[in-house]
Amino acid sequence: MIPYGRQDVDENDIEAVVDVLRSDWLTQGPVVPMFEQAIADYCCARRAVAVSSGTAGLHLAYLAAGLGPGSLLWTSPITFVASANAALYCGAEVDFVDVEADTANMSVQALEAKLEAAERNGRLPDVVVPVHFAGLPCDLESIDELAQRFGFTVIEDASHALGARYCSRPVGNGRFADMAVFSFHPVKNITTGEGGIVTTNDDALAERMTRLRSHGIEKTPPLLSDDNAGGWYYEQQALGFNYRLTDMQAALGLSQLQRLDQFIEDRARLVKRYDEAFADCALRVVGSPSDALSTAHHLYVVRVDGGEAVRRQLYDHLHANEVMAQVHYIPVHLQPYYRDKGFGPGDFPHAEAYYAGALSLPLFPTLTDEQQDKVIRLVKQIV
Ligand SMILES: *Cc1c(COP(=O)(O)O)cnc(C)c1O
Repeated sequence: MIPYGRQDVDENDIEAVVDVLRSDWLTQGPVVPMFEQAIADYCCARRAVAVSSGTAGLHLAYLAAGLGPGSLLWTSPITFVASANAALYCGAEVDFVDVEADTANMSVQALEAKLEAAERNGRLPDVVVPVHFAGLPCDLESIDELAQRFGFTVIEDASHALGARYCSRPVGNGRFADMAVFSFHPVKNITTGEGGIVTTNDDALAERMTRLRSHGIEKTPPLLSDDNAGGWYYEQQALGFNYRLTDMQAALGLSQLQRLDQFIEDRARLVKRYDEAFADCALRVVGSPSDALSTAHHLYVVRVDGGEAVRRQLYDHLHANEVMAQVHYIPVHLQPYYRDKGFGPGDFPHAEAYYAGALSLPLFPTLTDEQQDKVIRLVKQIV
């Protein structure tokens, strides 16, 4: 069986986790801040706050941005449901901005048009969440200009994009956004099992997320109490969660981070092989990098001409031959839960047209040339 994505865990990774198992700390201990510093350094961000999943990271980033009942968040319909769901956790409302046909990233044109209409209607979004789909960065500079003009917070869902670069700097550096959220689920570019992290250059946002990830509890001064409080004393100052990452996970993440650049090189080499093999096929590849944008090559998504019927035939043929291709993503607004909120077919036509033909082929560092050749052969039997 060839999955569409999988982790690459080596002996050094395993040793790093085992070392923690022999230490005093299993839950959040000394390795978590080391991992946070390493990610902050890698992304050229001031701060990084590690959490138990990408979804937890989105939730805390949204709360830190002040999202709550009465506020409004816009994201892309072509994303994992968590980008939208986390806003609902905060009691906020969600709406979507249609995507660009060729990248499936949020369309800046559609965003600007929707913002102008929203300004006329008196209901601008508080937060906008661009998703760097398949690892290709969105047009952050243009989104930031709109953020200045219309006054909203930008939070990148960078779950696919650790290691990608925008304007020659790593995604997550905070130049054009307030926060960036990464996921370390095993299909992502590096893994901690479950896990996530939020980068930011804003100390106050980082402090708010740090407090919320551990029940809203503070142990270090200045506390509200008098100076004479005993050593046991702590204060809950907000309603937080248990969203902590463990030291075992952080050790795995630290070790994996050393290998990230190699992982991306391996992915790039496989992408080149796919591109060459499909040059003469009725397939369009989603999202190509340019000088300013370098992708993290998280997914290799093809779009078949002929729409849903051909995509289904291709998917079934691959699965019948034990190639577990996948579709990223069913547009979030078409999920039954979101239809119940009033969304439906036709709301975001580019996202729906993209979805009708999209298929993610296997792409991960340990995919062998023989396995990839099998995938290519099977695809060419249909397309
Ligand atoms: C994986 C992913 C998430 C959620 O991350 P988890 O770590 O699985 O919670 C959110 N958004 C996108 C775009 C993702 O790919």
